[in-house]
Amino acid sequence: MHELSIVIDLVALCEENLRKNNKSKIEEVHLKIGRLSGVEPHLLKSAYDVYKKETVCENAKLIINLQDIVVKCNSCEKESILKKNEFLCPKCGSNDLEVLDGEDMYLMSLTMS
Ligand SMILES: [Zn+2]
Repeated sequence: MHELSIVIDLVALCEENLRKNNKSKIEEVHLKIGRLSGVEPHLLKSAYDVYKKETVCENAKLIINLQDIVVKCNSCEKESILKKNEFLCPKCGSNDLEVLDGEDMYLMSLTMS
């Protein structure tokens, strides 16, 4: 399962951050997940809830921020947020788009204690 391997990496990253900062517990994990990243937030959440037991994240809250798809149109040069699943510029209808945000997933911040 794709989401489980993400969670394993995430917990490892949390451990590393605790070590670097001389802390012992993670309180909150803030993630940004792009709508184009291919990561399913609810699957990630359930994988996290299972895996976090007996790790430094055992009592940590997972907070997921969904990032909309932000594109720049190469035809009309406007930036837009894509709401629908069609990959077309909402301003002019062109499909010559460059994705500026919403493609990846990353750790935004950690609250440690
Ligand atoms: Zn356009």
